[in-house]
Amino acid sequence: MLYDILIIGGGIAGMTSALYAKRNNKNVLIIEKEAFGGQIASSPKVENFPTIQSISGLELSDRIFTQITEYGVDFELDTVVSLKKENDIFTVITVYGEYQSKTVVIASGVEHKTLRIPGEEDLVGKGISYCAVCDGPFYKGEEVVLVGDGNTALQYALLLSEYCSKVKVCTLFDRFFGDESHVTALMKKDNVEVIQNVATVAFEKDNSGLTGVVFENRIDKSRFTIATKALFVAIGQIPDNDIYSSLADLDKYGYILSDENCTTKTEGLFVAGDCRVKAVRQLTTAAADGAVAALNACNYILKHVDLWK
Ligand SMILES: Cc1cc2nc3c(=O)[nH]c(=O)nc-3n(C[C@H](O)[C@H](O)[C@H](O)COP(=O)(O)OP(=O)(O)OC[C@H]3O[C@@H](n4cnc5c(N)ncnc54)[C@H](O)[C@@H]3O)c2cc1C
Repeated sequence: MLYDILIIGGGIAGMTSALYAKRNNKNVLIIEKEAFGGQIASSPKVENFPTIQSISGLELSDRIFTQITEYGVDFELDTVVSLKKENDIFTVITVYGEYQSKTVVIASGVEHKTLRIPGEEDLVGKGISYCAVCDGPFYKGEEVVLVGDGNTALQYALLLSEYCSKVKVCTLFDRFFGDESHVTALMKKDNVEVIQNVATVAFEKDNSGLTGVVFENRIDKSRFTIATKALFVAIGQIPDNDIYSSLADLDKYGYILSDENCTTKTEGLFVAGDCRVKAVRQLTTAAADGAVAALNACNYILKHVDLWK
């Protein structure tokens, strides 16, 4: 089957793209490698999505997913591993198959950064987590450590402070880099301790998993260990766009270069959401990109209708 529009990534950008494409009567496939909703599915609370005062990220994702499936969007749970264009047709290769489409929208978002400390990977699921919404409840009543200083770290710390006995928030510098409202809310919490100017340097563990985190004070270079069974890491995100680099230009950080029209250097290939170079990475901007990319893909199909006869 030749799809009109194939969308890589089922986050907010990808699902909004699908919504606009389907309402323009196109046959649409979304391929998502993990869970529909993308990053926002791991957010405890969203309070800046117009018309909704407060909603969990998971519920917001579910609502959009329901909306697009009711329109009849096809979807596959699979990982895209490569993309090529030959004779005006894109071939998207996944772990389990191969799909063809007249146009493609890359909406692959970003992934969480890791600390890149030896042993980290082995401790994921055994004490180290990148998602407080998903794993926080396992540590009710316990003391936990969180590393990070941006909005995600602040939101996670606030959430954990609701049910953990103590949250030690460790920051690399002497300040937070997130919204002032989150910082103010966190400072009011009795069970939150902020430890500044520290770098995570090592982990301690036993047979059951993490037992402690070793930090180094950046100023005086002294080292200390915080005993804990749970470390939440929220230190930012990175894109994963190398597989598209023959068809789309990337900047030095790996984000896809584009413009207001969400086009790339390849005709028929569009990009939407956090995976592209942009100033503001938020739900509203991801949704806006999704709409722009889909409508421009529809226009491209209309203009080049003879190509696929
Ligand atoms: C904890 C947290 C809280 C946040 N809170 C807010 C908030 O309150 N308000 C706000 O506006 N924004 C918030 N954000 C930011 C917001 O979530 C993002 O800007 C937005 O979700 C980006 O959507 P996206 O679709 O571009 O990317 P993503 O959400 O990253 O979705 C990309 C999707 O593509 C999939 N994918 C990637 N590569 C492949 C592949 N090769 N094959 C198949 N699928 C692939 C991924 O699995 C993912 O599901 C928050 C982010 C986090 C992490």
